[in-house]
Amino acid sequence: MYNQHCYEMGTAPSAIRKLFAYGLEKAKEVGKENVYDYSLGNPSIPAPDAVNESILKLIRESDSVKLHGYSMAGGIEAVRKAVSSDLTVRSGHLIRPQNVFMTCGAAPALLTVLHALCLGPDTEVIVVAPYFPEYKTFVLASGCRLVILPPDIPDFQLNMELLEQYINEKTQAIILNSPNNPAGTVYTEPTLDKLARLLYKKECEFGHPIYVISDEPYRELTYDDLYVPYVPAYYTDTIICYSYSKSLSLPGERIGYICVPDVCTDSKELMGAVAGAARIIGHVCAPTLFQQAIAMCNGVRPDLTAYNKNRLRLWHALEEMGYECARPDGAFYLFVHAPGDDSTAFSEYAKTHYNLLIVPGDSFGCPSYFRLSYCVDYDMIERSLPAFKKLIEEYRPGMK
Ligand code: PLP
Repeated sequence: MYNQHCYEMGTAPSAIRKLFAYGLEKAKEVGKENVYDYSLGNPSIPAPDAVNESILKLIRESDSVKLHGYSMAGGIEAVRKAVSSDLTVRSGHLIRPQNVFMTCGAAPALLTVLHALCLGPDTEVIVVAPYFPEYKTFVLASGCRLVILPPDIPDFQLNMELLEQYINEKTQAIILNSPNNPAGTVYTEPTLDKLARLLYKKECEFGHPIYVISDEPYRELTYDDLYVPYVPAYYTDTIICYSYSKSLSLPGERIGYICVPDVCTDSKELMGAVAGAARIIGHVCAPTLFQQAIAMCNGVRPDLTAYNKNRLRLWHALEEMGYECARPDGAFYLFVHAPGDDSTAFSEYAKTHYNLLIVPGDSFGCPSYFRLSYCVDYDMIERSLPAFKKLIEEYRPGMK
C-alpha cells in the first residue's frame, strides 16, 4: 500500500519534463542540432569564479568533519549575519541575523513558510497567474486552499480590481514572484504601491495580517540596470523566499533562505513557526559547505552578458516576425502570445513540424501564452529562427 496522490505526483512528468524527454529522443533521430529545446529553466552560465574559489578554499582550509557536518537548524550564525548585512546594505532597511533562516533553496523555503502560515483547511493563499507550477503543489501540501488570480494580460502586472474581489477574511497570503517565471516581467513600483494600499485596507477591514510571500530566485536577473523594488519597503507584512539557484547558477547545490523582517506583523512568532515548520517537513540544516560558500560571496553578482545577448536576439527577432511578447525585463524567460490563443495546440504543432520545444502556458495558468527559456546556446537560437518564422507564417488555428 502507498499513497496514491504521492504516486501520481511522482510518476506523472510535468509538461516541461515531457518536452525535454521528447527532445532527447528526437535528437537521436534527427541530430541534436536540429532540435530547438526551449523547455528547461536551468542556468546555462557557470557559477562565478568566486564561488568555486570559495568552495576550494573551504575544502582546503576547514576542518572536514565540521565542513560536512550539520549546522544549526536555521543556519550558521555567521552566515545569517553575512546574509542579513548584505540585505540591509542593498535594501536600506535593517535586517538582523535572527530575521534569516537558511534553506535548501526557494522550494523548501516556500513550503516551510506556507506550513508556518496555515491555520487550517479554510486558510486561503492567492497565487498570481502566470505562476511557477509548483506553487499549486506547495499550497495544497501545506493544507491551505489555493486561489488563482487570473493573469493581467498583456503587461503581466497585477489586476487590482480583480485581486480586491479575490481577497476575503480567509485570505492569509498572496505569493508574488518578480522577476517572474514564466513571464519575465518585473512588478513596478506603482504596482507594489497599489498592492500595498489594497492589502493594508483589507488588513484593517478583516482585522488580521495578510502576508505577501515574495518568491525571489530571479532577483538579480534583470537587464538594462532595471531595479527590482524591495517589496517590504512597500508592504511591511512581507516574507522573502530567496534562492542562489539562478543568481549564482547553483541549482544543484540547494541553498537559499527565508527572511522575515522585523517590520512584519508577529515577526518573532513567525520566525518561531518557520523553525517549527522546517522541522516538521524535515527541511533543516541547509548544506554547511554551501552556506559558507555563499557567505564568502556576499556581493558577487552574476555576469548576465550571455543571457542578455540571447534575450535581445530572440525577443527582437520574434517581434519582427509578428509574435507578441511580454516585455522580458528579468529572469531568463520570454512569454509569447500563441497565435490562435491555444498555446497547447500551437506548441504541439511547433514540436511535431519544426522540432521547436516551447512550453504551453496551461501549467502556468495562462493558456494563451507559451514560454521560451533562453538560458540556452546562442547558436541554437540562431538556428531556430527560420523555424519560428515559418511557423507563424503557416500556422492557422485548428491545424495539426
Ligand atoms: N520559484 C520559482 C519562481 C522558480 O522558478 C523556481 C525554480 O525554477 C523555484 C522557486 C525553486 O527554486 P529552487 O531551485 O531554489 O528550489
